[in-house]
Order: sequence, then C-alpha cells, then structure tokens
Amino acid sequence: MILAVASGKGGTGKTTVSVNLARMFDSAVQLLDCDVEEPNAHLFLKGTPRGEEIVAIPVPQVDESLCDGCGECGRFCEFHAIVSYGTVPLVFPEMCHGCGGCAMVCPKKAIREVDNRIGIVQTTQAENITLIQGRLDIGVAMSPPLIRAVKARLLKAVPAILDAPPGTSCPVIATLRGADFVVLVTEPTPFGLHDLKLAVDMVRELRIPFGVVVNRVGIGDDRVHVFCGNEKIPILLEIPDDRRIAEAYSRGELIVEALPEYRAHFERLREAVLERTSTVLRGLAGVSARVAAPSTSAGPTVDSRRMKTDADL
Ligand code: SF4
Ligand code: SF4
Repeated sequence: MILAVASGKGGTGKTTVSVNLARMFDSAVQLLDCDVEEPNAHLFLKGTPRGEEIVAIPVPQVDESLCDGCGECGRFCEFHAIVSYGTVPLVFPEMCHGCGGCAMVCPKKAIREVDNRIGIVQTTQAENITLIQGRLDIGVAMSPPLIRAVKARLLKAVPAILDAPPGTSCPVIATLRGADFVVLVTEPTPFGLHDLKLAVDMVRELRIPFGVVVNRVGIGDDRVHVFCGNEKIPILLEIPDDRRIAEAYSRGELIVEALPEYRAHFERLREAVLERTSTVLRGLAGVSARVAAPSTSAGPTVDSRRMKTDADL
C-alpha cells in the first residue's frame, strides 16, 4: 500500500496528518518525507539515525579537444542546460535534468557525464516507523530527482505514507506517481477551497483515487464541504480548530500522543485509507488476473494498466 498525503497549498496540516497517521500503525510502516526543500516530519519522530546517502545526477562535461561547436547538444536540450553558439557549449548544471540526451546526440562523442550532487537521503528508525527523508542542498532547484531517490528506498512489502510537497507542480507529481491512494488535506477557507480544486484536478488527471481531510474545522465557511458533496468526494476526517493541536505542533509533539482523545480520529482515518487502498489493489489484482488468464484471441495481451513497477515509482 502506498498512500500519498498532499495539499494544494502549504500550511494546511499535511505533515500533521502524515506523522499522526503513521503512528497509528501497529506494525512496520514507512514514512517518506518527499517535501525535500523543507522536510519536517523528523521534528515529530524522535528516532535513531540509520544512514545517510548522497544523491547526485549526471550532468554533461564537454571535452573541448573533441568538440567542433556543431550545436547538436544545445538543440536537443529542451531545458537550455547546455548552449552552443557555434562554439564549445556552455553547461548550466543547475538546470540539467540528467537525461543524458546531449551525450547521446553528440556526433563527436565530446560529452561525458559527471556526478553533480543535489542533496542527501537520510533514514531514521522511530520505533515501528522507518522515516526516509530527502534534503535538497541549498541553491539546488531540481527536486524531482531527489524525490525519486527517496522513493527508490521504499520497500513495497511494507505500507508506505508519502508526505508530498505543497502545490500541484512537478515535485508533487513526482511524489504522487505510483501511489495507490491520495489524501488531500485542506482548510475550510476560500484559499483552501481554491487550492483544493487545483489538487483535485491534478489527482483526477493522474487517475489516482482520493479523499479529503478537512483541517481546522470551525474557521472559515462550509464551501469546502459543499464542493466535496457536489463532487462526491469522500471526507475521510475532520480535525477541529483546536488551539491545543497548534500548541502540540509547536512543541514537536504528535497529536495522538499529546491529546489522546484524537487517537480515535486517526484510527478512523487509518481504517478508511486501508479499506480504500485494499479496494484499489483488489481491483488491480483483478485486472492482472484477467490479463494473465489464457487468451483464445490472437491479439496482444499486454495490459496498459499493469501493476506498478520500480520504474513507476
Ligand atoms: S554536440 Fe558535441 S560536438 Fe556538437 S557542440 Fe555539442 S559537445 Fe560540441
Ligand atoms: S543531460 Fe539532458 S537536461 Fe542535462 S544538459 Fe544534457 S540534454 Fe540537457
């Protein structure tokens, strides 16, 4: 089971939901902090460091003695990370996505790839929770490769919760891709509704089942609830606007530990996501079984809705 927790805007309580939900699992669970520009799940989970790895992407390095300035590399690179004006090209590593294309198209074999560090992945064990977090280096803007490096550490046999970055741009897509279910966290305010609509459009485009958690219920108005009702979007949990929650958060404490009366709320959320992800997985298993059944037709049997592979993650 891979569950992603996302939100259209920052500050809605995404990490609060992720860490408290992770704590409600009795057995081993993985929490992946994919908000690599500002990881903060570790503030709530005190544990033992288990390791740290440097993550780098391959960027081009040009051998001037071989280059004739043909410009093929620059014409290929859609990110303008390598530019040639009839001369030896300039390389802008901070814009490079590490696709390797420029090296492949260079007719003079003048480009080799060298590692360019973008950040680190840290693993911490906090009781039954394995926290894996990415931390982007200062000045680096390319977060999707680091997010993919975080997700590459995910063990498929163990339930996983992905704490996504805020928004609806590339880093969020990189996080959500491969998830079985998405929890969208929002607030009952006009801003919350605006960004929830963007997030709903995003997950519908990705064709991932989803539900909503409304945080700070009691502020704002009922338009988020009306929207979810009209769109038939399940509201999985409502967290009241309780000052004690904000105080626990500011002390780096889990709600379910500082305020035990909220444990039942997160237990219900855990059951709701487990039920929905098992339905999704049963559906995929059914598709897989049907595809695997002997076919009497002469046509191809490859199914485009195949189960996830490591490449999808
Ligand atoms: S494609 Fe190769 S030879 Fe042509 S400009 Fe780029 S590095 Fe130089
Ligand atoms: S590796 Fe890809 S992104 Fe980087 S400079 Fe070459 S073509 Fe551009």
